[in-house]
Amino acid sequence: MTIFFFIGLLDDNILFDKTIPYTYLLLMKEESLLVDLIENIFGEPKNLNEYSGQISVDCPVCSYEIKGLSKTDGKGNLEINYISHVYKCWACAETHDTHGHLGKLIEQFGSKKDKKTYKLIRPDKIEKKQKEYKKLELPKEYKRFEEIHPVHVPRKEAWNYLKKRGITQEIIDKYKIGLCIEGEYAGRIIVPSFNKKGELNFFVSRSWNPRAKLKYKNPEAAKDFLIFNESLIDWKKDIYLVEGVFDSFFLDNSIALLGKYVNDNLWEKLYEKAKKDIIVCLDGDAFNDAKNIYDKLNGGALYGRVKLMKLPKDKDVCDLRGQINEYMIQEKE
Ligand SMILES: [Zn+2]
Repeated sequence: MTIFFFIGLLDDNILFDKTIPYTYLLLMKEESLLVDLIENIFGEPKNLNEYSGQISVDCPVCSYEIKGLSKTDGKGNLEINYISHVYKCWACAETHDTHGHLGKLIEQFGSKKDKKTYKLIRPDKIEKKQKEYKKLELPKEYKRFEEIHPVHVPRKEAWNYLKKRGITQEIIDKYKIGLCIEGEYAGRIIVPSFNKKGELNFFVSRSWNPRAKLKYKNPEAAKDFLIFNESLIDWKKDIYLVEGVFDSFFLDNSIALLGKYVNDNLWEKLYEKAKKDIIVCLDGDAFNDAKNIYDKLNGGALYGRVKLMKLPKDKDVCDLRGQINEYMIQEKE
């Protein structure tokens, strides 16, 4: 009976789905209240990641105190995590102490009503929401090219596929590119990723058969935190951000985003560690996403050091074999 009592208090349509346990529903309700509260105080979020609980909004300290603007600066530099109840501004945390427990932020900028609401939601203890992943290993059928006889037909197919895409022996060695002929990843090129300690943290598998239904098949891993091949990054040199691993082969010191977004972990590392320029270089058809990354990064410690590339519509870095200098645009349009 208690369960129905609680459900009766909540009003969203999803509540009629009886497969969702009610404790989870209550948690969701609490989180959505918090999101509303944050929106109330800081306006519409620039970004919201429901999985990690991360929201980015314009920083009032940057906008009003530092820049003296009459409205917010549109940078979205203030990151709030409503699951772990913390916040940080990427631009002014250090200089203006804009970081800490969410309660402190709401105390500073919320109305009386906001503070009251937050008191009701504020947890006594914060449990970290974390997904457990199995320790990742390469597929047991993974082999390096030199381990297979060169006339073996699948090996030849894989080799020709790489040659066609401009991948040289040097690249194969540098990135430890291998292949699977049997097993779950049969017919696929394997590109492993290693963290800064040199431990495997991900791999990408790309079918070499053009008729394959699934071009990429990747393991389940914490992609939210992944920095692909962090072991190869020199933070003291220019860093290129590209979409795919095949793009990253053609630009020295590049990071494959495995998509069009910069995750929070990478964002933090770039802010803390990148000493030279960051060049955003997504596929030609993703220029808007590239502009979003540019906007997100170009502030605080990185201000003026982020550059943007606009590739031809139907081309990516791999198609162009890394010859992209002519597509540099310093300022976004
Ligand atoms: Zn700020």
